[in-house]
Amino acid sequence: MTSSAADHPHGPVAAALPDVLREGLGLTAHPLRLGLWGPSGHGRDVASLRGRCVVHWMMHAQRSHANLALDAAIEAGAALGLPVVVLVRLGRGPVEHNRRHLAFMLAGLQDVASGLAERGIPLVIGPPGGSAAGYLAALEPALVTCDEDAMLPARAARAAVAAQLPCPLVGVDADVIVPQRHHAKAEYAARTIRPRIHRVLAEHVDEPHRDPAPVRSLPGSLVDRARAAGLVVADDGVDWDALQSAALEGWSLPLDPPPVDRASGRAAALALLERFVRSGLDGYGSRRNHPDQDGTSLLSAHLHYGHLSVHEVVHAVRARHAELPEDVDSFLEELIVRRELAINWVRFTPGYTQLASAPQWARTTLAEHAGDPRPWSYSMAELVRARTHDPLWNAAQLQMELTGHMHGYVRMYWAKKIIEWSPDPAEAWQVALTLNDRYSLDGRDPNGVVGVAWAIGGVHDRAWTERPIFGKVRYMSLASTGRKFDSSTYIDRWTTSQGQLAID
Ligand SMILES: Cc1cc2nc3c(=O)[nH]c(=O)nc-3n(C[C@H](O)[C@H](O)[C@H](O)COP(=O)(O)OP(=O)(O)OC[C@H]3O[C@@H](n4cnc5c(N)ncnc54)[C@H](O)[C@@H]3O)c2cc1C
Repeated sequence: MTSSAADHPHGPVAAALPDVLREGLGLTAHPLRLGLWGPSGHGRDVASLRGRCVVHWMMHAQRSHANLALDAAIEAGAALGLPVVVLVRLGRGPVEHNRRHLAFMLAGLQDVASGLAERGIPLVIGPPGGSAAGYLAALEPALVTCDEDAMLPARAARAAVAAQLPCPLVGVDADVIVPQRHHAKAEYAARTIRPRIHRVLAEHVDEPHRDPAPVRSLPGSLVDRARAAGLVVADDGVDWDALQSAALEGWSLPLDPPPVDRASGRAAALALLERFVRSGLDGYGSRRNHPDQDGTSLLSAHLHYGHLSVHEVVHAVRARHAELPEDVDSFLEELIVRRELAINWVRFTPGYTQLASAPQWARTTLAEHAGDPRPWSYSMAELVRARTHDPLWNAAQLQMELTGHMHGYVRMYWAKKIIEWSPDPAEAWQVALTLNDRYSLDGRDPNGVVGVAWAIGGVHDRAWTERPIFGKVRYMSLASTGRKFDSSTYIDRWTTSQGQLAID
């Protein structure tokens, strides 16, 4: 057996899918989207694939339609003459995945269940307690497919499961426009990845979602086996509250924020997209930097849970390009270039949650200023209560705690202030990530990792004029940031809601 894709120096990644497997399984996705997890000797020969079904292990792309990874499972099922079943395994933790995120995710999964039922594709849910490998094995698959994302815990989970499976695990990179494998290294900044993306954009932006129909239905005996293995069969009805309790049972969660009043799932995401394209896109280019105006799409939480595909968003927005070229281009710069730059950094940066992953110039300058006096310092409890001397920071923190979302423009300022108020930048990095990931519905995402790394560690940025504490890392002041938009409207809006904070 040859070496495993998991040996990659930047953490486990899937190897390229051998052509013989891609062609034998009739997979139509772009070859760069397709990968093989686990031992590279696995399943080189389609004729040797034995099993009772193809399982699609749905991880990041939690949607029933417009899903290139699910399409691949159905194509493989057709080639092998086997039924397809979708498995979602509910994990317990990580700690950032608290009640707020779980409620949002489970509400989204209800749309997955109904959407798959419409398509005649069975869904089984693995409650916490059982392992993904165990649930998969119980379904006796000839092949398992999964989607891809760059975060290390998810990559490690795929590698671990692949090592235990008796069949190939094929990963499909469904939630980026340009497949991650197109990039061979971490790009330096937006200006270096932008031309690389634009050079191949036309090749990838119109890759079609086909939503094919499955060729066979799951035999009753396999459904019985799934039940016997502890899987919840969606057709039997799902007690979502019981699943939520099981996921939280025995799980001690510091900073466990309550769910927020926000619709989740594919239907809500598509409605939001439709509304944004109709009435939010006009003026986006300038309004996106005005936290007082709610001028952005609010799609990030839905993109994080994969409720809709990035291809769908691009197509919907591009439909207005002739009318609103600057606004559309500005939005696509964020959605494609900035988002895929973040994914690229996480994929190629080991230890991406630590200051040690920042560029050398930033670490050096921050170290040189490590001894600078910090005029203010706040404990985690004070930050969580939004009780600092800075009204804009407090308002931003309150927006995040109360709604699960912080406006992107104030996110930059918010993270930078934490450097000023922490004993050292390494601690600031951890505090910012912790707060971002636990309160934001779109947290635990490459965008958040890189947002914090940019603000605190100068990642994808350059050196600026030197000043205390920050050294040459870019600084943002209350006075200058507050002048760029109507900060008093923003501050009033969120600080008057402080009374609603429910702190444990
Ligand atoms: C400190 C800090 C923390 C952040 N944490 C997160 C996070 O946890 N999750 C998250 O998705 N984004 C994060 N961002 C990036 C950005 O702020 C959000 O993606 C954006 O505010 C989401 O709101 P929206 O969907 O209305 O954005 P829109 O302006 O409508 O943009 C559309 C989409 O483009 C992408 N996008 C927009 N801005 C950026 C950006 N700067 N970098 C990468 N992609 C971008 C997102 O997918 C977004 O949904 C963070 C930024 C900073 C500075």
